[in-house]
Amino acid sequence: MNKSFNFFTPTQLLFGPGRLEDLKDIAPKYGSKCLLVSRPLQGSLKSTYKRVEKLLNSANIEVAFFDEIIPNPTIEGIEKGVKIASKNKVDFVLGVGGGSVLDSAKLIALLYHPEGIITWEKAFNSYNHPFNYVASKKHTLPFIAVSTTSGTGSQCTQAAVISDNKKKEKITLFHLDLFPKVAIVDPELMTSVPAGVTAATGFDAFTHAFESYLGGRTSPLTRQMSLEAIELVVENLPKAIQKPKNIEYRTQLAWADTLAGMCLSNGGADLPHPLGEIIGGICPRIAHGETLAMVYPSFLKYKKNIAPDKFKEVASFLGLKKDPDKLSLKIEELLKITELSYARERAELTKEEKNEILTHPLLSKLEPKNSNEIIAIMEESII
Ligand code: NAD
Repeated sequence: MNKSFNFFTPTQLLFGPGRLEDLKDIAPKYGSKCLLVSRPLQGSLKSTYKRVEKLLNSANIEVAFFDEIIPNPTIEGIEKGVKIASKNKVDFVLGVGGGSVLDSAKLIALLYHPEGIITWEKAFNSYNHPFNYVASKKHTLPFIAVSTTSGTGSQCTQAAVISDNKKKEKITLFHLDLFPKVAIVDPELMTSVPAGVTAATGFDAFTHAFESYLGGRTSPLTRQMSLEAIELVVENLPKAIQKPKNIEYRTQLAWADTLAGMCLSNGGADLPHPLGEIIGGICPRIAHGETLAMVYPSFLKYKKNIAPDKFKEVASFLGLKKDPDKLSLKIEELLKITELSYARERAELTKEEKNEILTHPLLSKLEPKNSNEIIAIMEESII
């Protein structure tokens, strides 16, 4: 056991079916005018947005809307959001949605400036390490997260991912002020998530729990949390896909996502995340969880020999007799049941895209640097 470790999770968590109602009591603590960041107001989350607006109005909070967030959100979206926030002189930012909305709302709050000016270079150069301390900015606004998917853990991480579509890159920014002040995790909001999104997001939660467990920054606390999250996803993800309206399955997945997010924010991710982000940067049409599913079979073969003890521990927890091969098979079985094993076919990568992915400069910078093994993992994942 590590005798010395750090654990940090500053976000106030309001978890459970029906907890969205708490928004009317929580929100006024952060001011009287908010920017609601969301997917299009008339889209699949229409009824949730109506409820949120009603709750805010009942608490006498004025609402400015920014509903143009797209999956794999972009730099341009953040710039527009900051402009709307500054024009409306809002007191706080509220994000209601999946990881794409939460990450965008986080960045709008962090990078807020009264004149709407963003200094991206400074952000990219200073907010680039998950565990470095960087002092708070002068104008940052408080941020409240309401998650509507179970996967990214964004409601309890210090990270936000955006796409630079000109450079074809996905970039992760880290700052302690990217931890939301409050996270509302209400599984009732997740019963409308379509099967494909449930699968991709649920597997994302699995990867956060598993990869942080494989790393060197675990603690007795995160190890327990990771194992529980892994088991919850393995047991409940296939069931939630079959019965999307079942609140018990949705609650278990939302809890797994939250546990895994806390593990990720304290332990970090492993190789599949940068590999997945290379694919997602070049092909923003592919969902984050699908890019992870593409690289996982090859990653498992590679990592099983590097971290056999960790594989044995996870296998043992799942009742697989301390057998690393059985764990890999179990994870591949999860990919099959959830149809994520077809992610590569669904991606329909063109020859040019495959070439861009395999010659991406980041591949040679990943540990172990300049390794043929990393290229081979990527090759096996996309060819
Ligand atoms: P998403 O937010 O892109 O949502 C996917 C789709 O599901 C969208 O069309 C959305 O409108 C829809 N949707 C969301 N909630 C719904 C609901 N309740 N009912 C019906 N439809 C719903 O997907 P995501 O996987 O949650 O987020 C992905 C983003 O999060 C990526 O950009 C990824 O890189 C990022 N990410 C961030 C972190 C972090 O720590 N900040 C971690 C992992 C991934």
